[in-house]
Amino acid sequence: MSEEPENRNTSSDDAKGSGAADTFRISALEKIARGLEPAPDARARIAGEALDYIDRFIESLPSSKAYIDADCPDLRSLKADGGIVQFPRLLEMLRSELNRAGINGSSGANFAYIQSGGIWTSAIADMLAAATNRYAGVYFSSPGAVIIENQMIRWMSSVVGYPSTAHGNLSSGGSIANLIAIQTARDTFGIRPKNVEKIAVYMTEHAHHCIHKALHTTGLDDAVRRTIPMNSHYQMEIDALRRAMAADKKKGIRPFLVVASAGTTDAGAIDPLNEIADLCTEHEAWFHVDAAYGGFFALLDGMKEKFRGIERSDSVVMDPHKSLFLPFGIGAVLFRNAGALLASNTHSAAYMQDVYGNDEISPADSGPELTKHFRGLRMWLPLHLHGPEVFKANLEEKALLSRYFQEQIAKLGFETGPEPELSISLFRYPSNNRDEFNRRLLDSIRDDGRVFFSSTTIGGEFWIRCCILSFRSHQREVDLALKVIGEKMQLLKREI
Ligand SMILES: *Cc1c(COP(=O)(O)O)cnc(C)c1O
Repeated sequence: MSEEPENRNTSSDDAKGSGAADTFRISALEKIARGLEPAPDARARIAGEALDYIDRFIESLPSSKAYIDADCPDLRSLKADGGIVQFPRLLEMLRSELNRAGINGSSGANFAYIQSGGIWTSAIADMLAAATNRYAGVYFSSPGAVIIENQMIRWMSSVVGYPSTAHGNLSSGGSIANLIAIQTARDTFGIRPKNVEKIAVYMTEHAHHCIHKALHTTGLDDAVRRTIPMNSHYQMEIDALRRAMAADKKKGIRPFLVVASAGTTDAGAIDPLNEIADLCTEHEAWFHVDAAYGGFFALLDGMKEKFRGIERSDSVVMDPHKSLFLPFGIGAVLFRNAGALLASNTHSAAYMQDVYGNDEISPADSGPELTKHFRGLRMWLPLHLHGPEVFKANLEEKALLSRYFQEQIAKLGFETGPEPELSISLFRYPSNNRDEFNRRLLDSIRDDGRVFFSSTTIGGEFWIRCCILSFRSHQREVDLALKVIGEKMQLLKREI
């Protein structure tokens, strides 16, 4: 192609000004900037090394500790700043420091808190989501991403028995999911600063602490908070709730919100959902169920009765990063009536004017986030790849293992809590100085590290908790736990 002389003149004029300098600088910068897109051979090498690292990590899990004291390795290279580091060296830092301190969230011998393992196929989905980087906040930007997320929301809605008018939001976890529920309940009831002192919220002492954080964040600190007593199974006492709601009404305080749990974090208890639904209907209160831990157990036919009434709630939280075994970073909130959710969360902005008017509800209109991780894919891909039966088998296995654990630990002479409703049980050794003995027992199990447990305090008394939820926890891991607990208990008894 020939160029017009005029063009040549223009460019030679520019060469005298800042234009040429800019052109030169732009081209120099481009050479550096392109470093963010590794060439195919570099991509293949890095991906190969990363997958290799992950394979070795997974293969080592059966012989790895579930807990390593955070002070054990010195984490020196993680604390050092700066400098370019080669990829193999970065992996080595992760292997020797990151993955060698603290709680092993992937271990099947981890029975502390609520830990579900983090399935590998979900990690692959995360990589696909990040590498293709679809903007999952609005339908206009990625119809496919929104269809995938909404399909997951509809599936979960069917698990809890909600009608087709339901909708929800995929959040980063249960805390934010509960926050969205409480914000939506607040807005539906038209609660403003001027009437906040005239409304009441009901829950037991075992409601998750994120509910209190959510009440704080939503400006409901000054609402009346009623702590409803629990029965010997750590479930909400329905008569006490009935009395509290009626008494408040008499005093001119409006029963606003009942927060029930379907699987408390402390004891795995399920509140009497159907009876609570009756009272909420009678008093026109919002019925919220926090099933962050327990939610997916509702997939099991044998568990349906325990969850009866959940379908009558106004909102439910369930965490796929708990009872669906996904890696940390995905919770969900569902609403029986999509309208309430949208009314509380849909806002518009001038610069978003071209994105409206679609059939599918966009995540940006059903929660506080705009730009978000495309977290639907990490749930959609494993569900399609493995099918729901594998998940159900895992859940039933964990529930049965939990009963087995409780029977066996009782045979070792331990006192136990109520029969596990889902997969959390409580135990302690009935020695003299009981709390002190059990605290020391827990410490010695931690120091050993082959298995890991956490504790809680109920009614001022110390209990060790056993939560069997990792998809990698099978008979072998539970038997190992029983063995380690038995050994440590005997040693401690000899010491005392
Ligand atoms: C874990 C949990 C939460 C909090 O969820 P995150 O995902 O940790 O934010 C809330 N409620 C219950 C019952 C839980 O078990």
